[in-house]
Amino acid sequence: MKPCDQIDDFLSGALSAESRAAFAAHLSGCADCRSAERETHQLDALLLTLDEQAAVPTELVKRIDGRLRQAHRRRLIVRSAAAVAAGVLILALWYIRPQPAIEIVEKTPTLPVEITAVRVDFSDEVLAVPQKTDSPNVVFYWVYPNLASTTSPEGSP
Ligand SMILES: [Zn+2]
Repeated sequence: MKPCDQIDDFLSGALSAESRAAFAAHLSGCADCRSAERETHQLDALLLTLDEQAAVPTELVKRIDGRLRQAHRRRLIVRSAAAVAAGVLILALWYIRPQPAIEIVEKTPTLPVEITAVRVDFSDEVLAVPQKTDSPNVVFYWVYPNLASTTSPEGSP
């Protein structure tokens, strides 16, 4: 590394004490490094003359703020549109999803149907009233216990 390459470290104070002393000896004999050192000091002085709290023009702040708000609104709109598009896509995919094949099988009872009869013996004190059903093959009875001796419906056997 050439001694001139250490100018930035020298100016920023990054050199060790020994290296700093060696570079200072180099600086006294090197016109390029002295020039760089002088420019750096002038720049530092110029920066110090600037008002540290230099006010940012209000108009610039408003414009930047406006641009940020616009960008935020645009992002919001894009995100909302993307969400709506995703919802529409999901609905469309759901609507056109493959349907399971449905097979309607109509079964007709095979004849002869086995007829099941139940015989129930009641005591004499029971009133059994036959009830109509939709099927001519089915009859059921309302059974009223202890009514046979007091009530007798018309037309019943
Ligand atoms: Zn030099």
